[in-house]
Amino acid sequence: MAYDFDLFVIGAGSGGVRAARFAAGFGAKVAVAESRYLGGTCVNVGCVPKKLLVYGAHVADELEQAAGFGWTLEEGHFDWGTLIANKNREIERLNAIYRNLLVNSGVTLLQGHARLTGANEVEVEGQRYTAKQILIATGGWPQVPDIPGKELAITSNEAFYLKDLPRRVLVVGGGYIAVEFAGIFQGLGADTTLLYRGDLFLRGFDGSVRTHLKEELEKRGLNLQFNADIQRIDKLEDGSLKATLKDGSELVADCVFYATGRRPMLDNLGLENTGVELDARGYIRVDAQYQTTAPSILAIGDVIGRVQLTPVALAEGMAVARRLFKPEQYRPVDYQNIPTAVFSQPPIGTVGLTEEQALEAGHKVQVFESRFRAMKLTLTDIQEKTLMKLVVDADTDKVLGCHMVGPDAGEIIQGLGIALKAGATKQQFDETIGVHPTAAEEFVTMRTVTR
Ligand code: FAD
Ligand code: NDP
Repeated sequence: MAYDFDLFVIGAGSGGVRAARFAAGFGAKVAVAESRYLGGTCVNVGCVPKKLLVYGAHVADELEQAAGFGWTLEEGHFDWGTLIANKNREIERLNAIYRNLLVNSGVTLLQGHARLTGANEVEVEGQRYTAKQILIATGGWPQVPDIPGKELAITSNEAFYLKDLPRRVLVVGGGYIAVEFAGIFQGLGADTTLLYRGDLFLRGFDGSVRTHLKEELEKRGLNLQFNADIQRIDKLEDGSLKATLKDGSELVADCVFYATGRRPMLDNLGLENTGVELDARGYIRVDAQYQTTAPSILAIGDVIGRVQLTPVALAEGMAVARRLFKPEQYRPVDYQNIPTAVFSQPPIGTVGLTEEQALEAGHKVQVFESRFRAMKLTLTDIQEKTLMKLVVDADTDKVLGCHMVGPDAGEIIQGLGIALKAGATKQQFDETIGVHPTAAEEFVTMRTVTR
């Protein structure tokens, strides 16, 4: 049977655009449908605008440090509207770049919601298209628990377009987004409280990292409340919001921001017209080749709920394009040792096993840990400490994990990701000459076993 397209991609986000562009580059006839915004979550309401707001909040740190270096500054004033307008302009520029990337690689771009009408058929704006293969790359969507007053809360989607910076913010959740936005709101001047339902936020991260970040955020005046969860939200007469917690206590704020995880975006996708099945968590079930339970349909990125990071969606998109249209270049995605950063203030950078994971996996573990005040702070009154930690297998000397909390942690951890991928040993770390004077050199100068 002749199909309209070799590959029909649903969703022009990180994974979809990568797969579509490269498939077209390999000679396939490709269409991509996008209902909302080119570039997907990352470009529009994720990584990019988030990082721009983080930079904005970080300026407050620079201003605080300036006096130690002899700078006398006039009273500073922050304008949220200017930051958001500038951020929006940059996003529009990126949207246009994504459009050009797709169109210039020969991809047919369809604007509108795509719905599967069969295993080889998609409907967009009333028009039906057939395709030999269909790739679902529809991403995720914020998930807010079903509590009375949940409609009064916002998520990251809305936070990027708030008209004004709220004066008092309650951030709910203890994952990446909660911690990052707590830093943004607080850094820009809002009175911020973070509520997390468990004992300590960032479950799954290394224990030292979690404790260290908690201490540093508290030093900065962020109000952290653990074992705390909201039962209901009510609007007060003056327009502010009252959150009643499960223990009966009450907090009043101008904004309640939920970052309690993301669900796969499957709304009106028409999966019932195909043989595509979901896994126990509700994500699209795929095999190692990203093939769903319907042989002609594949899925990648956040919608499969494996690792919800842009570079992972990109790698999965690339793997699909290569496997289908350039099999001689196909390499499976390596899910081991994925470096990642949490852009909190101060940020976290991490790659490899946590101390807890290494012990659980049966390694005889040696831990090297260092806490120090960064050189930049020595001329200031700021007492912030940087944490660096190596988790090493005592039998093989292999470095199993590198963890950091401190300025530029994301930048520093990228290179260490290469070292871990190459299977570096602690001895090789020790034999690497440091770059002096930097904070990063601490990773190659830790000699004494902490435990
Ligand atoms: P998406 O990028 O979400 O793209 C899916 C696209 O599909 C969307 O454009 C959507 O409109 C479209 N779509 C959905 N349904 C349909 C349909 N039926 N028809 C047509 N189009 C449809 N990751 C990092 O690595 N680093 C970060 O710093 C980072 N920060 C983040 C900050 C926030 C606030 C959030 C929410 C996420 C962040 N992420 C970050 C995660 C990252 O954004 C995602 O992992 C990544 O975007 C997933 O890519 P994807 O291709 O799976 O989906
Ligand atoms: P996460 O899954 O990282 O965190 C969700 C948080 O919400 C957890 O602390 C979880 O607690 C808590 N939670 C879940 N359900 C409830 C509930 N019903 N009531 C109260 N608390 C609840 O999700 P995020 O929304 O922060 O981010 C989604 C994903 O996006 C991340 O996992 C990450 O992959 C990606 N991302 C990456 C970034 C980066 O690379 N810098 C930045 C932002 C997002 P518990 O731990 O107890 O389950």
